Amino acid sequence: MAKVAEPANDDRVRPSTQATSIPPSRMRTGHSEFAGQRVTVMGLGRFGGGSGVIEFLHSQGAEVTVTDCGPVDEYADVLKKRFSASRVHWHLGGHQESDFLDPDLLIVNPAVPPGNRFVELARSRGVAISTEIGLFWERCRGRIAGVTGTNGKSTTATLLHDALREGGRRIWLGGNIGGSLLMSLDEISADDWVVLELSSFQLMWLDELQVSPTVALVTNFSPNHLDWHTSLNEYRHAKQTILRWQRPDGIAVLSGADEVCDWPVNGALCVVDHVCPFTDVPPALRGTHQSRNIATAATAARAIGVAEDAIARAVSRFEGLPHRLQFVGEVHGRRIYNDSAATTPESTLAALDNVEGPLVLLVGGADKGVNLSPLAEGIQGHAKAAVLMGDVAPQLEQRLLAAELGARHQPLQIVIAVSFAEAVSQAMELSSPGDAILLSPGCSSYGWFANFVERGKEFVRLIQCVERIPSPLEGEGQPSSEAPKAG
Ligand code: ADP
Repeated sequence: MAKVAEPANDDRVRPSTQATSIPPSRMRTGHSEFAGQRVTVMGLGRFGGGSGVIEFLHSQGAEVTVTDCGPVDEYADVLKKRFSASRVHWHLGGHQESDFLDPDLLIVNPAVPPGNRFVELARSRGVAISTEIGLFWERCRGRIAGVTGTNGKSTTATLLHDALREGGRRIWLGGNIGGSLLMSLDEISADDWVVLELSSFQLMWLDELQVSPTVALVTNFSPNHLDWHTSLNEYRHAKQTILRWQRPDGIAVLSGADEVCDWPVNGALCVVDHVCPFTDVPPALRGTHQSRNIATAATAARAIGVAEDAIARAVSRFEGLPHRLQFVGEVHGRRIYNDSAATTPESTLAALDNVEGPLVLLVGGADKGVNLSPLAEGIQGHAKAAVLMGDVAPQLEQRLLAAELGARHQPLQIVIAVSFAEAVSQAMELSSPGDAILLSPGCSSYGWFANFVERGKEFVRLIQCVERIPSPLEGEGQPSSEAPKAG
């Protein structure tokens, strides 16, 4: 069987904490297209993309200037120490115009919004502009399968990766799921498959390159990131980049539960039948939303030519991803679930549908400009108490009161917490033995946290303070921003 290459996917949760310079053995200065080029890297990224691009460009002999407008935090410090070589310059804590005037190349973190004045300055000066994923795409010899959608991208991308691996393909996993495949470019051959999770931010930049994957999967579509995109149409247009530049021999796998199945395609079309044909489904893949993800990944795997038994094996062996409806343990008789990755109302609704028994929900976070009424109705229908967090708390409280169900035995108990620690202790107080406590915020974490991983870890830590239980996250590292992990 061909060698199965595991991706640097773990960078998402385990960016290197080694304060070392790049090993000289990895430096390939001299003959690369980047040797001697001055490259500005804008935005560190916190799931491995930024460090991946710095490492790659440095290894290629470029003169790299890294600039980030955020505070110089622990993550920035770690990277600074790791890339302390003389050809890497650090301008942190704000951008300087001089870094954008005449570099040979500007690499922009995909979370930098369109129209950013420094990017526009570089553009007006004729500077070549790309992103980490753009650099990778243009140099990748392998066949790319891209996964996008509002919800379920990471799960579907991982399932497709696992199915292709079970089917004996050489396979890589990267993109928005974390890490960077740039340093693996030399190892990726034309016969390999590369599964890339793609966010709307990444796709917006890829549109400038006019590229789409050979196989494109779209899980679903609903309003999201309306604090970043200027309109729902812009968000949709960004997502549709995954189909826009496909060639006629490309394959489009559209998950047919919403408008996605009517999106325009150029290649062969496979609309997903949502009936999950597999009987051996592990706990991590239970629920209607997961059946859809399985069906989407399976449709794509079949279209690529993977045998049914290999797909079934991948499904049955799937262990679940951290922070996705993850069972943490039992504390004082309460079942605790960490679903910190739920950053949209639909994902929280999926969690509410799948956690049994009376439940206390920790919900809320940053305001992304989406309609919270369906979420409020779902909470009213499923939860006995809701602890509201973050910017959206007052708005969500209003929606919850407006959605109050006449038929309820007892009115929903609603508490607004002013800190995460308070939210967790309120949830303990509002719950009784036999209940579930579910962190499923339905919103982004920024404001209170740098990213959903940090939020999930803090949840587990606080729960462990209530009673010492083994953590399902043991071994995870310290990322610190949501920037590239977008939908
Ligand atoms: P994404 O990469 O799009 O954020 P993930 O697979 O990481 O998706 O899952 C993130 C959250 O969304 C988790 O809470 C998960 O339970 C939920 N989720 C996964 N798939 C779906 C789906 N198809 N519909 C709604 N929610 C989903």
